[in-house]
Amino acid sequence: MAAVYTSPSGGDDLAELAAAQSCGPSELADMYRHVSENIPITAKDVELPGYEFKCLSILFEKLSLDKHGVMRVMQKVGRRTRQCAIASRQWQWDLIWRTHSLNHAGFRQTETRLRLDWFWIGMTGDIRRQVATCCVCQAAKHSKHTSMTKRQRLDCGRVWQVIAVDLLGPFMQTPRGNVMVLVVCYQFSRWRHAVALPSGTAPTVAKALENEIFCFFGVPEIILSDNRSQLKSKLMHELCQIWGCKGGQNNLL
Ligand SMILES: [Zn+2]
Repeated sequence: MAAVYTSPSGGDDLAELAAAQSCGPSELADMYRHVSENIPITAKDVELPGYEFKCLSILFEKLSLDKHGVMRVMQKVGRRTRQCAIASRQWQWDLIWRTHSLNHAGFRQTETRLRLDWFWIGMTGDIRRQVATCCVCQAAKHSKHTSMTKRQRLDCGRVWQVIAVDLLGPFMQTPRGNVMVLVVCYQFSRWRHAVALPSGTAPTVAKALENEIFCFFGVPEIILSDNRSQLKSKLMHELCQIWGCKGGQNNLL
């Protein structure tokens, strides 16, 4: 039996979950009808409905209703077999956040914990997408990779000689529709400048550099970047030629 049955509306009711599963129109509700009335699934049934119904029909033999009317699927979790409740669409988002918010564990731990009690079609992808947008995790994220490369001295003898650019994101969409951040670092003073962008495509980055940076401060002599495809694209290369600047060392624009 599932450990927690708190519904998205705040209720603590198995009947509410059963109602969410059986109320249509939805493919889950169609399947609920087949299981509750013990109607076998024919080839014709599978032809019409969508992806969710097709996937559930493969599991039809493992589906059953418990004494509260909740539809469950028999799943092997580790060495044990468990009767996992099938979460309806209204419950899925809430369940992921509740589980993830317990300790802000990564995607895999969140999935392992959820799979002890719950199941739905497309569960792995839903959890991965939602955990990736968690603001708390993004703010606290740190790299596990230690840099083993030999550090080099950055030669920058005068103002506006070398700048470094990098793209951060994607983050959660802001009210103005921005999801990426273009960070420009001035190597002489180490001053950093950030520009919010609606996307990370090469034309957007080029436009932002021109309108937000070069129009105010002029064009630098060298632009450093990592090897992101947007920053070493043909468009950026051509724009660099127009601007009259060049990329630095191996990290070319
Ligand atoms: Zn988190």
